[in-house]
Amino acid sequence: MRDELHPNPLLQTWDTPYGLPPFDRVAAEHFLPAFEVAMPAHLAELDAIAAQTEPPSFANTVAAFDGTGRLLKQVELLFSNLCSSETSPALQAIERDMAPRQAAHDSAIYMHAGLFARIDALYRDRAGLGLDAEQLRLLERVHLDFVRAGAKLDAAAKTRYAAVMSELAELCTQFSQHVLADEAAFALELQSEADLAGLPEFVRAAARNAASQRGLPEGSHVITLSPSIAEPFLTFSARRDLRETIWRERVARGAHASERDNRPVAARIVALRQQQAAIHGYANYADYELADRMAGTPAAVLGLLEQAWQPALDKAAEDRLVLEAKARTLGLPTPIAAWDWRYLAELVRQEQYQLDDAELKPYFTLENMLAAMFDCAGRLFGLEFVEQHGIPLYHPDARLWEVRRQGQLIGVFIGDNFARPSKRSGAWMSIFRSQSGLAGGTLPIVINNNNFAKADTTLLSFDDVRTLFHEFGHGLHGLLSQVRYERLAGTQVLRDFVELPSQIFENWAEEEQVLQKHARHYQSGEAIPAALLAKLRAARQFDQAWATIQYVGPALIDMALHALPNGTPVDIAAFEAEQCARLGVPSDIGQRHYLSHFGHLFAGPWYAAGYYVYMWAEVLDADGYEAFVEAGDPFDAATAERLFTHIYSAGNKQDPAAAYRAFRGRDPEVAPMLKKRGLIAA
Ligand SMILES: [Zn+2]
Repeated sequence: MRDELHPNPLLQTWDTPYGLPPFDRVAAEHFLPAFEVAMPAHLAELDAIAAQTEPPSFANTVAAFDGTGRLLKQVELLFSNLCSSETSPALQAIERDMAPRQAAHDSAIYMHAGLFARIDALYRDRAGLGLDAEQLRLLERVHLDFVRAGAKLDAAAKTRYAAVMSELAELCTQFSQHVLADEAAFALELQSEADLAGLPEFVRAAARNAASQRGLPEGSHVITLSPSIAEPFLTFSARRDLRETIWRERVARGAHASERDNRPVAARIVALRQQQAAIHGYANYADYELADRMAGTPAAVLGLLEQAWQPALDKAAEDRLVLEAKARTLGLPTPIAAWDWRYLAELVRQEQYQLDDAELKPYFTLENMLAAMFDCAGRLFGLEFVEQHGIPLYHPDARLWEVRRQGQLIGVFIGDNFARPSKRSGAWMSIFRSQSGLAGGTLPIVINNNNFAKADTTLLSFDDVRTLFHEFGHGLHGLLSQVRYERLAGTQVLRDFVELPSQIFENWAEEEQVLQKHARHYQSGEAIPAALLAKLRAARQFDQAWATIQYVGPALIDMALHALPNGTPVDIAAFEAEQCARLGVPSDIGQRHYLSHFGHLFAGPWYAAGYYVYMWAEVLDADGYEAFVEAGDPFDAATAERLFTHIYSAGNKQDPAAAYRAFRGRDPEVAPMLKKRGLIAA
């Protein structure tokens, strides 16, 4: 009786505007019962596809598979969005409970032998099925998803594979816990004003906060190894001895001779990954990873990274002379050390640019910058954003816009821009519903989250503005998607391609005509002065050689490590020392990450043989934006049309290299990225 009176709103038809989740009726207690209905329902759909007596066809198997699990998907997306944007202890408890069950569910999908047999049969006959390009792409993509999850392995290999994957998961967790524990075990307490020399108020405030978290008396200051405190400390502290302590302790994370030593853990992870690659039939782990990326091969990645490496070393040699001169005027020793570089560079930066955030921020109100990004999307892609009020969402700060193109509703955009304790940190794009062309079509519901400080008038730093445009670029990728199959929609593209639509969109935030129109002083309404804009631009290239070396060194070492032939044992410390010597990593610059704490590589599988993706995307974004520069107009209609057709609306329906070529008329070139970083002459 009770259930009839209070049915679970997650399991009812979502009879809401735009088919939004019924935010005002959903409570945490509805999720577990909804998952418990939706998961078996999904598996029953898969069983039904596998049990058909008719022979497999694209329609009855591949397209059908793409349409399964919609109930589960909508519950999962709502759940994960709430866990990120508006969590609670109740949701967190369900999260812990559900994580292993979701993993088991995924494994049940990709290990479904009957379903895979049908997909595999179609894949083998794919040339003769008369499929169009998008159908063929879906078949290949779905087949690859199954194969990479281990569906093709025989029973014995599946057992070995499961053992490898479960040991890897355990070791990756251990790796990140060791780093956390090493970070937690260290604290440098600053005893006096002399220890605080050079630190601006925001670093002091962070140090007081860290001290109070550690239960120290009020007024104490503690420097931890967390990047948000340690990096500003290395930048501003006038105490060379303390900078050295912090630098050395950061480098040593995970490399202390203790039970938390991560070097043997990393070595075992590498060995297991070699086994993983071997089971899949690849010669090394990098080949296995790169097979599912736009780059395709380790050689293509090395080709890019090496093009950045030497110009960065050359430019750093020039920058070093300036820093050494600065050091001499301060009576500091030369040659300089790794714990001096940031500090000296900051002093030089302040002298050369005198760029003060407080001077800039009044020109960048959140409202004006939202208007700016909507305006750019309008001029490039013909979009119109119309805010709707009075529709229940999950939090009063979240706002909703109808997105229209040529007068037609094409999607819904939710913007949730303010920080609060119930929201995780950072900025991200997500969806509540994917675009799809099946069954009459589904409109996407896209959300962007930021963590700006709420105020009567919220003023943004220019970094904030770039973040806002970046996430909106991802948002447009979701909103403009025009594909038939959900697996290929929006941002579901390869990992080294997904940042192209977001990073390229940041360029419009820096366009003169955009800023002239929208960057207006929040009190006087005056446009941002040209001189201030010029300083902002010039400051962006400062010390980019240092940043490039700090990033590219670890990316090269990542690729070298994961490209070792299967069965090669590795001594992590010796390997890293050898690689640093081979590359000529300057000792006064060093690396952003060392292997013993390089979480990108060892805390999980996501960036192993993949730390390069940031720079890969930067190449695509800089080279892609050059197309507008060459056309002589940042809103050139023909270029925008190609960008829409081949990139923003195309999802994963085409191979990314071919999509890029169709947009740009040629393969990407590295030079624009190097120019943008100031590493080669413009
Ligand atoms: Zn991004």
